[in-house]
Amino acid sequence: MKNHPKYERTLVIIKPDGIQRSLIGEIFKRYEQIGLKLVGVKMMIPTAELIEQHYTLDPEWRVKTGLKTIKGYVDKGQTPPHTDPLKITGIILKNLVEYMTKGPVIAMVWQGAHAVEIVRKVTGGTEPLSSPVGTIRGDYVLDSYRMSDTDNRAVRNLVHASGSVKEAQDEIAHWFKKEEVFDYTVSAEQMLYDVNLDGILG
Ligand code: GDP
Ligand code: MG
Repeated sequence: MKNHPKYERTLVIIKPDGIQRSLIGEIFKRYEQIGLKLVGVKMMIPTAELIEQHYTLDPEWRVKTGLKTIKGYVDKGQTPPHTDPLKITGIILKNLVEYMTKGPVIAMVWQGAHAVEIVRKVTGGTEPLSSPVGTIRGDYVLDSYRMSDTDNRAVRNLVHASGSVKEAQDEIAHWFKKEEVFDYTVSAEQMLYDVNLDGILG
């Protein structure tokens, strides 16, 4: 039954700005209240190597992110700083490593139905400025690509969340040892997943 949607897991990282902005509790609350279950958590100051590997677990990430960024500039009628996607991702990756190693982060594994998609929905899009109100990135931070590009730094968007089930599996294995992620049950799951709701009236 482990392929039931309720077993899906995803990786979330509260980035250094999330911790500095005193948003740890608020961020946990958002994922917990929607019905997801925390199955792994740890605080650490990441090494540059851990972060560089994290962003390049997908061998296509450099090309995909470079092309996406170029498209972003073109769509806004701006000229990209380079036409070579790999040059652009080189800059993004260098800035991400600087940002993510500046202080402690909290890495978490959340489990529950459609965990990857639900977490992305609650988190909002990559750029806070265009993230909808009601999402973590839309409610608690005001950064933009325009501002982060002007200052040549990574966009401060409080959290990282895996983008697909495959990405989640690779990222969880990158950040957590097997024994640091727990199989257990919480009583709220009966209300979320029990087919007949037998437990309510004894
Ligand atoms: P995420 O999964 O929402 O964090 O976004 P991606 O996986 O697409 O990108 C990873 C990181 O690369 C983001 O958190 C940003 O810091 C950076 N990034 C992605 N796209 C852009 C972009 O268009 N412009 C800039 N400046 N940075 C970007
Ligand atoms: Mg991503």
